[in-house]
Amino acid sequence: MNSHIIEEDLRYLWHPCTQMKDHELFPLVPIKSAKGVYLYDFDGNSYIDAISSWWVNLFGHANPHISQKIKEQIDTLEHVLLAGFTHEPAVLLAKSLVKITPQALQKVFFADNGSSAVEVALKMSYHFHHNKGECRPLFLSLANSYHGETIGALSVGDVKLYKDTYAPLLIRSLQAPVPKDQSPSSAKEALGELAKILHRHDKEISAMILEPLIQGAGGMHMYHPDYLAGARELTQGYGVHLIADEIMTGFGRTGTMFGCEQAGISPDFMLLSKGLTGGYLPLSAVLTTDEIYDAFYGDYHEHKAFLHSHSYTGNPLACSAALATLEIFEQQDILGENRIKSSYIAQKLERFRTLDNVKEVRQLGMVAAVEMIEENPKDRIGMQVYLYGLRHGVLLRPLGPVIYFMPPYTITNDEIDTMMDVAYNAIETIRRSFK
Ligand SMILES: *Cc1c(COP(=O)(O)O)cnc(C)c1O
Repeated sequence: MNSHIIEEDLRYLWHPCTQMKDHELFPLVPIKSAKGVYLYDFDGNSYIDAISSWWVNLFGHANPHISQKIKEQIDTLEHVLLAGFTHEPAVLLAKSLVKITPQALQKVFFADNGSSAVEVALKMSYHFHHNKGECRPLFLSLANSYHGETIGALSVGDVKLYKDTYAPLLIRSLQAPVPKDQSPSSAKEALGELAKILHRHDKEISAMILEPLIQGAGGMHMYHPDYLAGARELTQGYGVHLIADEIMTGFGRTGTMFGCEQAGISPDFMLLSKGLTGGYLPLSAVLTTDEIYDAFYGDYHEHKAFLHSHSYTGNPLACSAALATLEIFEQQDILGENRIKSSYIAQKLERFRTLDNVKEVRQLGMVAAVEMIEENPKDRIGMQVYLYGLRHGVLLRPLGPVIYFMPPYTITNDEIDTMMDVAYNAIETIRRSFK
């Protein structure tokens, strides 16, 4: 069964974020089913999903509550266009999102994946200034940031591996330095630089976009909430929108429901996706303020409207998965339980600090990272950890030399032990192989 799927796959599929030739060396892993934190292959092997299937899963695979809600929806209304028409799941979800996000965010625009949400926010911000009679053709983001792969999202990101090839195609953006670590002094230093950039480009920048507290694809780089608070204040002073890309950090990952809460700020846009549907279906949401919404409101002939759409905008199945996910947050003290789990993870992380091929260990909420020292990128030590993990029943997918843990919140202490012991042994094995 396995070899048949792999053969047919390689004949017909082109996989995301993959050098396909790698599969001459590393086999694909066909997954037959999944339950809780486990993925199961066709040979009876199981793998702990330590990365929540690219950061989307919150409450385990085949979660009974979410599955049930989608089943109920699927025979009622699977989809209808959202222009001129509406449906209950979209309305209920928009209302719930407004309720749980910072006070000033009052309107919800749906799209169907994270990158699209970024595109929507960039266009809305630019268009807002346009409607106010200004042209602000620049966007500002942080060094080492990631906001997705479509052209606009790629333009404001700063991961060279994904971006460099497309440089001539990209829209104009500037990068401000990101605080170099989690200390308040690094936040302060980076804010000094931000102030200079905003001053130098006064009235040219539409918006600043950032990942609150944790830069995900940029290697789980973490910074202090003081930076967020300072960036909010500075951008406001220059009439520059602040876009909080909470696509990865949202829904409890950082320890609070949203990363912005730790700085007590309210951005002009908040972007949600990934965990939004509990890892079930593609959906994203752009939340914004009444002030921004009102700038688009007028007679049709004024040409102020935001004429942007995606075919599957606000899909009812995806909205019902999201509603079921939010119900779990309402019915259980997820954030409280996560605090206990994340302090257990913190305890287990200590041991990694003693390894001499480990450069840094960091954690925030339900995200932990161990950065290895990589003498030569050609060694692909991240890939070695990935393969070691698969042989030992754990799906780890390091970002270069950074091994990270971002498991579903339903993970038990025993499963945390397995996940982290396997990672430890992988690093230890690599250490010995370079001796
Ligand atoms: C994953 C991610 C995106 C892009 O979302 P996709 O659904 O993969 O397009 C954007 N921003 C951040 C912070 C992300 O982690």
